[in-house]
Amino acid sequence: MGKPLIVVLGAGLGGTIASYEIKAAVKGRADVMTVSDTDTYSFVPSNPWVAVRWREPEAIQIDLPPVFAKKKIGFTSIGARRVHASKKCLELNDGSSINYDYLVISTGPDLAFDEIEGLGPHGGHTVSVCQTAHAAAAADKFDAFVENPGPIVIGAVQGASCYGPAYEFALILDTELRKRKIRDKVPMTFVTAEPYIGHLGLDGVGDTKSLLESELRDRHIKWITNARVTRVEHDVMHVDEVGEDGAVRKAHDLPFGFSMMLPAFRGVPAVSNIEGLTNPRGFVIVDRHQRNPAFPEIFALGVCVAIPPTGPTPVPVGVPKTGFMIESMATAIAANLSLILDGKEPTAEATWNAVCARDGHPQVAFLILKERSETDDSRSCRDGVCRLRGAARHRPVADHASLVDRAHRLCRPQHAAGELHRLLPRRHAVQGIRHPSGDSLQMTLKRAIPFPLLACLLAGASLPARATTLQEAIAAAMSHAPEIEAARADTDAADARIREARGQGLPSATLSGTIGHGRLDPQGFFGLPAANVTPRAAQLTIEQPLFLGGRVSAGIAQAKAGSEAARAGETMTRSQIVVATVQAYGNVLTTRRMVALYGQMVAQMEEIERQARLRFKAGESPSTDVAQATARLAEAQAALENARGLAVSADARFTNLTGLAPRALQPIPASPALPASLDEALDSARANNPALAQAEAALDAAQAGTRGARAERLPMIGAFAEGASVRDQFFPDYRSDGATIGVRARWQIFAGGRVSAKITESDSAARAADARVRAARSAVDEQTISAFSAARAASLVEAAATAQALAAAQARDSVRHEVRVGMKPQLDLLDAEREATAAAVNETRSQSDRIVAAYRLLALMGR
Ligand SMILES: Cc1cc2nc3c(=O)[nH]c(=O)nc-3n(C[C@H](O)[C@H](O)[C@H](O)COP(=O)(O)OP(=O)(O)OC[C@H]3O[C@@H](n4cnc5c(N)ncnc54)[C@H](O)[C@@H]3O)c2cc1C
Repeated sequence: MGKPLIVVLGAGLGGTIASYEIKAAVKGRADVMTVSDTDTYSFVPSNPWVAVRWREPEAIQIDLPPVFAKKKIGFTSIGARRVHASKKCLELNDGSSINYDYLVISTGPDLAFDEIEGLGPHGGHTVSVCQTAHAAAAADKFDAFVENPGPIVIGAVQGASCYGPAYEFALILDTELRKRKIRDKVPMTFVTAEPYIGHLGLDGVGDTKSLLESELRDRHIKWITNARVTRVEHDVMHVDEVGEDGAVRKAHDLPFGFSMMLPAFRGVPAVSNIEGLTNPRGFVIVDRHQRNPAFPEIFALGVCVAIPPTGPTPVPVGVPKTGFMIESMATAIAANLSLILDGKEPTAEATWNAVCARDGHPQVAFLILKERSETDDSRSCRDGVCRLRGAARHRPVADHASLVDRAHRLCRPQHAAGELHRLLPRRHAVQGIRHPSGDSLQMTLKRAIPFPLLACLLAGASLPARATTLQEAIAAAMSHAPEIEAARADTDAADARIREARGQGLPSATLSGTIGHGRLDPQGFFGLPAANVTPRAAQLTIEQPLFLGGRVSAGIAQAKAGSEAARAGETMTRSQIVVATVQAYGNVLTTRRMVALYGQMVAQMEEIERQARLRFKAGESPSTDVAQATARLAEAQAALENARGLAVSADARFTNLTGLAPRALQPIPASPALPASLDEALDSARANNPALAQAEAALDAAQAGTRGARAERLPMIGAFAEGASVRDQFFPDYRSDGATIGVRARWQIFAGGRVSAKITESDSAARAADARVRAARSAVDEQTISAFSAARAASLVEAAATAQALAAAQARDSVRHEVRVGMKPQLDLLDAEREATAAAVNETRSQSDRIVAAYRLLALMGR
């Protein structure tokens, strides 16, 4: 019997790495063969550069046959027409077939341009950077565009899962247009299906929202989120912007002279529609060992793998599968195949959060990287955490390495440094820089991405689990809050009172008895002598109430209403905790952003003051400039200290509520679905508001109480059965046994006015409860109307605050320039800095206000 055959299908980023790793892992115990549909390997992450001619296509491509021959891996580029999973057979495009023992699918994405009319480079009107050939064609279009500049639209359509490259390409174009000095002729719009900028298919990572928003704003790139592209014409893109409820909020017709929109991905035809293997979108289903559950001899990695979205969004948004995740999948598959060949079960799992990125400041990215020995001016590393300073932010083209290009810098348990490009031969070194250890290739490329974006793209390589989301914070608060524990205990007590009230109408049995010891001397009565006795008596009584005048039913109704009230109280407590947590969460993010913004303002003011002093020394400006700058610096420092104080309080409140340290909070998410109209909100609040429900239950309890009080006027009748036994009681050896059945009645005819007073009291209590219900109804109506309009207003305020922040930042940039060339006095710049910072703070606060307003409305509606 020959060796088993492992076939790797696809030779892109995932397939090529997998072929290498599997070949090394199986150590001659199996043959490895790779089936591609092309002889060429393309380094996809560099495609955006090809589209602006920062790279020629050949510089990022490798001829695969000699590479595989050198590694003794079988290779064909005929391509697969179909996987016949049940027959373990791969049908190739020329009609031949390969029978495999194990199949590793890494066929990447099929680009779904056809899902939107006019999209894409094949007969459509937008360019693409998804494939190197697309990017090369885009470069030709870009050349023509710069001759005749106009608007640019960049982004990712509904269902796309790869957002990092869209942001990257927008910034690359901005940089390139500046280099060509035509940026001012090109209005740019970023159009994305994401619910907010920086969502990245991962519901944001760290502060990606603020980072990317400020990056786009700084570069004067407008954006539309929650966007659904409906149709693309020759020079105009039709986009529906939808609201949280999925309804179209605004239709945009965006004219463009150049547009790149990332399409949605789906599985390639060779693997799609195979029962058990792929999901309806054609992505391969895998377990945590990268193995298909229906066909255990099939594994998959890369973009072709099915990963569910992180959560619902108004417009469909997929999860990105980035280079390091893919490499991690390849490593896991190689290890698992090795185990299987040894007759063991697979155990290896991919570490999808191979890289963790955090932000701390728009100009600083914290990357959990293992830095090798080198350090330079802009980097200082400690304990494997490398703090990259974003000084290059102000340089249009920075000499940064891309995340994938610098794989050798990254370290994780099963990730050998340099693994990613070890598969590429030396002679293909793109920049001629080689890894000292041998085969590896590093592509040190010039990129337009500033560190914030680098952080965001890296963030794409780490799936959730690293930052706390709002929902996680709410869940933590729910399990942590002692108020909820207390409310739950109240509900349990109220439920027990119902059982107690029911017990009043049920039969009861009572056993009583006495026993003693002593001496009894009858003094000769009946001639009986004195004797030692043990007097004892026992009695069993069984009673069945027959008529209690309605006391029992009133008691039960009262207890039930008490239970309803307790439940409503618990709901109310929960809603209050939710709102408080949302507020605390928003405050943590807001105050942190304030600290960052005021920190920046202090830095700016320090610089302005420094320059004012220099100019004053040189006799170019009056001392007033220095004084004004010093005053504003002090003001900024005071604001920074105040923000720090607020941040400490916000952190403490958050921890108090949730029991969590507010270390890494995801950005404020989109608001939960809200009622479409005020009527809907009012209907829901009237039906479900917990405070109203509590008041109504209190009224029911009070009314039951009046029935109970009136019942005291009526007699109580019950049947009873008694049995008694008495010994040694009156004289020595006394014996008596007896049994009785009968009816017992009790009717209090005169109680000194106590009963009528009780009735009056309970009637008054019922009237008070009724008034409270009416008051609660009006209060709920009023609160709902005001919360509904507050939620609406908060969304509008947020949009206005965003526009204001954008305008203020633009104004500050212009003023900065005008002051520099002497067209305006320095005071104008001080004012502009102050206004821009205030507007940015306002914007952050408005996001927090928006989500708090939304949750407040939902709390009123009992949701
Ligand atoms: C523009 C862009 C930029 C990106 N930038 C980054 C980045 O900076 N960092 C990062 O981590 N990730 C990035 N990614 C995401 C990801 O790393 C890449 O998409 C990566 O190429 C995916 O690898 P893959 O092997 O799954 O798919 P691919 O690289 O697309 O490879 C699939 C291969 O399968 C072949 N194939 C398909 N069908 C068949 C068939 N029937 N028979 C034989 N062969 C077939 C294809 O020809 C292709 O060679 C980027 C993605 C895009 C689109």
